[in-house]
Amino acid sequence: MNVQEILTNLETKHPGEKEYLQAVHEVLESIETIYNENPQYEAAKIIERLVEPDRILTFRISWLDDDGNVHVNLGYRVQFNNAIGPYKGGIRLHPSVNLSILKFLGFEQIFKNALTTLPMGGGKGGSDFNPKGKSDAEIMRFCQAFMLELWRVIGPSTDVPAGDIGTGGREIGFMYGMYKKLQHENTGVLTGKGLNWGGSLIRPEATGFGASYFTQDMLKTQNDSFKGKTVCLSGFGNVTWGVALKVTELGGKVVTISGPDGFIYDKDGLDEDKIDYLLSLRASNNDIVSPYVDEYPEAKFYPGKKPWEVKCDIAMPSAIQNELNGEDAAQLIANGVKYVAEVSNMGCTPEAIDLFHNNKIPFAPGKAANAGGVAVSGLEMSQNAMKINWTREEVDAKLHQIMASIHTACEKYGTEEDGYINYVKGANIAGFIKVADSMLDLGVI
Ligand code: NDP
Repeated sequence: MNVQEILTNLETKHPGEKEYLQAVHEVLESIETIYNENPQYEAAKIIERLVEPDRILTFRISWLDDDGNVHVNLGYRVQFNNAIGPYKGGIRLHPSVNLSILKFLGFEQIFKNALTTLPMGGGKGGSDFNPKGKSDAEIMRFCQAFMLELWRVIGPSTDVPAGDIGTGGREIGFMYGMYKKLQHENTGVLTGKGLNWGGSLIRPEATGFGASYFTQDMLKTQNDSFKGKTVCLSGFGNVTWGVALKVTELGGKVVTISGPDGFIYDKDGLDEDKIDYLLSLRASNNDIVSPYVDEYPEAKFYPGKKPWEVKCDIAMPSAIQNELNGEDAAQLIANGVKYVAEVSNMGCTPEAIDLFHNNKIPFAPGKAANAGGVAVSGLEMSQNAMKINWTREEVDAKLHQIMASIHTACEKYGTEEDGYINYVKGANIAGFIKVADSMLDLGVI
């Protein structure tokens, strides 16, 4: 395989899809050696087949706002690869959504899902709809209109969407309600469902808890722990609150959260009450910043800034792709950061990752660290199929075990001669081998 040649071809075929090309580049770089050592992959054109989605559905969504005005958005589902199981991946609702972003997310999802040890392929979907500031009724009308198109291509053994940015329990409810009405059956076709109608315990916290367990394992390799560590987080959405809760429980002090407009620094650290307060703000109103600073005057808001300028031991970007760049990484390193774990998908730019690697700072990529979310989604699918519910302790134990096995796989394929674990390489190779070998077994299809 010639990585540059493949990337040049892809750039010609998909001009301007920069996030997708960035994600492909990272994976190809990691697997180049193992790919070239195994000529059966080249003979079956595994890479050429893997980098193109199986299919993409694009559709128009028309919906009415509360004043009776008509709005039009674009909807997508990228069914990337189903070699090891039904397509599986979230639905992102955000004005920035385009095909490049969904293809990058779908591509990453293939390897992440392979790492979970569960039988799930990779996919992703979404819309450029902006849920911010919309009423519940508007969200419901949009979600119903979205599902009126999507339902034709999904199913419990075909394609199982879930949440992502802008899609939480409320949106999954409205989408699942419409799916059920159209399909006339109760199947676990979406995950992240409410507990009363097929959801799994721990699913809302799973991405954040899983990332914390993974980071804990990374710390253990250095005989270290979260105890007494200062931790910087970004965002405060579906994922960040779970990280904040678990890291705090494990003895870390979370001093930052953020939004697109800036970050909050709380020198005393978050605690359970503060996290509950933030969650109540999020549930009732989109702005968390000014009420939080009013309630806890020791906290300070830094407008237009990112949390990576704060001195910390551990940085865990948890908001959006490319939110931590080379400059941010240099600042973190200058301030003595010891570990970095990406909880957002592709949260760090390639320049930032290179800096962490060159400075031998253990760095966990999103596809390993945040796999707990989709792992518990997989467990939700199992519970739906068996028509049983596992207890909180049972799900948490399985999540813990899955994250440990992902860490072991990264260690196996990513440990370098000097003992430094390159988690990016480890995760990419482990995920790739499973998918590529499955594709070989399944023939040219
Ligand atoms: P949410 O929409 O629930 O939360 C995103 C958070 O990030 C919000 O607090 C948002 O603020 C903030 N944010 C958005 N843009 C920026 C920005 N440019 N700079 C700083 N903060 C920003 O999304 P999720 O928590 O679901 O997803 C976060 C990340 O985790 C994404 O990369 C997602 O793909 C990934 N992920 C999510 C999983 C899940 O289970 N939900 C599973 C695995 C990965 P505001 O609300 O004010 O816009």
